Amino acid sequence: MSPAPTPSGSIPALTSAPPELDIWQRLMGTTEIGSHVAGQVLPGTGDEVELVDPAAETVLAGYRDGAEAAVDAAVDAAASAQRIWWGLTASERGRILWGIGAQVREHLEQIARLEARSAGKPLQDATGETTKVAEMFEYYAGWADKQHGEVIPVPTSHLTYTVREPYGVIAQMTPWNAPVFTAGWQLAPALAAGNGVVLKPSELSPLTSLLLARLVERAGAPVGLVNVIAGLGPTAGNRLVTHPGIAKVVFVGSPATGRRIAAAAAEQLTPCVLELGGKSANIVFDDAILDRAVGGAAAAIFSGSGQSCVAGSRLLVQRSVHDQVVERLGKLGAAIRQGDPMDPDTQVGPVQNRAQLERITAMVQDARAGAEVVTGGMRLERPGFFYPPTLLAGVANTDDIAQREVFGPVVAAIPFDDEEEAIALANATDFGLAGAVWTGAADRGHRVAAALRAGTVWVNSYKTINVMAPFGGFGHSGFGRSSGYDGLLEYSEPKAVWVETDAEAPLAFGY
Ligand code: NAD
Repeated sequence: MSPAPTPSGSIPALTSAPPELDIWQRLMGTTEIGSHVAGQVLPGTGDEVELVDPAAETVLAGYRDGAEAAVDAAVDAAASAQRIWWGLTASERGRILWGIGAQVREHLEQIARLEARSAGKPLQDATGETTKVAEMFEYYAGWADKQHGEVIPVPTSHLTYTVREPYGVIAQMTPWNAPVFTAGWQLAPALAAGNGVVLKPSELSPLTSLLLARLVERAGAPVGLVNVIAGLGPTAGNRLVTHPGIAKVVFVGSPATGRRIAAAAAEQLTPCVLELGGKSANIVFDDAILDRAVGGAAAAIFSGSGQSCVAGSRLLVQRSVHDQVVERLGKLGAAIRQGDPMDPDTQVGPVQNRAQLERITAMVQDARAGAEVVTGGMRLERPGFFYPPTLLAGVANTDDIAQREVFGPVVAAIPFDDEEEAIALANATDFGLAGAVWTGAADRGHRVAAALRAGTVWVNSYKTINVMAPFGGFGHSGFGRSSGYDGLLEYSEPKAVWVETDAEAPLAFGY
């Protein structure tokens, strides 16, 4: 979704911006917002873009689309810096990665405050996510000097070994829901494997990703190793995906854009990883500890205003406890403290942008005809893009609201009779990102986890993720993995080297 370009000459100066933006001027050395390319803030030349405070609907700041020119300069800078980076020893790279984590920790509070203001995230969420960014660099710092090949016991007189080599320059595109978290999530393994990066965050919330590029350099990485583009999808994003200097594309975003990006990358024969959307089933059996299941169901969908790819947006409940669970979840949803993201007591903030608010409003409006609204269901009458926690009951799994990603605080409750039906309903979706099962029976927990077609399954838990574990989707939720060792492997390629050890060995003529 693209923001509306503003009239020419109306970009507000940072000098009139709220205090959360002070860190920009302090770290970047300018009041101007632009791409971070080769260690400099590069003002854009394209359409003007406004950054809107989602809690107040006021304009925070603005910039011009970096467009194709910023991308071209960034790919060049990343290519030069990558050669220096790969020339360092593995342990030197590890020390610098650890230093990036330290930089994030040093500026944690200010980054979190900027994220809260510009992405509309409750401060406690923004603080937790920024802390996780530090952990991501620390985790992958440990991997920097542990990526080694193997010796293969071939049946000839060769010494055959493998080495892992970086791709070169990676293109990364990220969405608006968790900007700094997603940037760290992809940057840390890319750098640990020896690559340079050009990252294009969402045009709606680029500030913390841009700051992160500056922190990478402050930690001692070569200037230009990480470049971040302040720009729009169809211009800067499209140029990035199709740029001949890009060796791999990693995309986090919607299935619709993911499809376009995969097609564009395929034209260049550029490999890609796609981290797309979800419609995750959260299954509650009648033998579960219902207090925990209901609390977990509320957190699964309402935290972050439901703007999470793994949000538990389909609540499958065993019929014998269905009405009870629905009633209790409705009450929990209605009691959630929704308000100013900067207030430390706020549990849920606004959604990030007007277009998303309108999409949620329209999808719930359409669903009303066939469903019972247990709680929520109407946008709040106050400034800011606030949509309340919403629970719809009486939904069929085939309904639009149970099949399409809302990306908002909206959950559809669907009854089931037995385990077999629960699994069938859970898997009756094009998506396959995540799912959960709440049960008091350990054997059932493992059985259902095995049967769910999803990249992540929680048993008696929801939404816990950590950089140490792999993450990614089945089906329309994408392909490739992020996080953990599997995520690291996405950023390098194995090379096999055959060394003849017998000067008398017959020369091969053919395989
Ligand atoms: P989006 O697809 O609209 O945008 C994602 C990124 O792609 C943005 O940076 C955007 O500018 C860029 N883009 C748009 N058009 C482009 C083009 N033609 N070429 C290149 N780049 C282009 O997604 P969004 O609305 O920002 O985010 C919401 C979506 O992200 C949801 O579907 C959500 O499920 C998904 N998401 C997935 C994960 C995951 O890990 N699986 C995590 C978070 C969000």
